[in-house]
Amino acid sequence: MQNNKVICVGRNYAAHAKELNNAVPQEPILFIKPFSTVVPFEEPIQVSGAMHPIHYEIELAVLIGKTIKNADTVTASNAIDGIGLALDLTMRELQQELAAKGQPWEKAKSFDASCPMSQIINIEDINLAKLGFNLFINGELRQQGNSNQMLTPIVALVEYASRYFTLQQGDILITGTPAGVGRLNPGDTLKANIEGFLSVETTVI
Ligand code: ZN
Repeated sequence: MQNNKVICVGRNYAAHAKELNNAVPQEPILFIKPFSTVVPFEEPIQVSGAMHPIHYEIELAVLIGKTIKNADTVTASNAIDGIGLALDLTMRELQQELAAKGQPWEKAKSFDASCPMSQIINIEDINLAKLGFNLFINGELRQQGNSNQMLTPIVALVEYASRYFTLQQGDILITGTPAGVGRLNPGDTLKANIEGFLSVETTVI
C-alpha cells in the first residue's frame, strides 16, 4: 500500500469549525497526506523535539477497496471496503500561520508519522450513517463524535473526492474531526473507540 494516499477533510463538523473560529464551509475542504504519514496507531507518538507543538484530531477513516473516478452514490458506497480510526496529527500554530499567509498547510499536516491508523474492520454489520466514536486522553473524554453529525456524510465525501482525484484501491479517506481538539504532551495515553466495534490505544513520548 506504500504508493497510496490519504484524502483528508477539513471542518466536517460544525462544532469543530466553531472552536477554531472558522466558518462552516459550503463544500468539503480536501487535502492529502502522502502515505509516508501513515504509521500503526499503537506506535508511540513522538512530540519531544518536534519543530512545533503537535495537536490531536480523532477521525473515522474509510478504506477504498476499488479504484473509482467521478463515482455516483452507489459506486462510491460500493467502493468503501472497511472502517477504522485515524489521528490527523497537526502542528496547529504552524497551520494557522500558513493559512493566514494563504499558503498550503502540508508542512503542518503531512509530516512523517502524522497519520496514525488503526486496523480496518469490515463494515458488513456497521451503519456508516450513524456511527459513534470517541477519544480519551489520560482517562478523560476529550472528543466524541457521530457520523450523523458530519456536514457531508461518508458516502457523499467519497463521491465528492472522486470528482477531483482518482481514488485508488488502498487509499484512505479520513472524514474530519469533531470538537475537542488540543495539544499532545509527553506521557499522555490515548484510547480511541468506534463505539461497539473497535478500540485502540497509544502513548505520547
Ligand atoms: Zn482533520
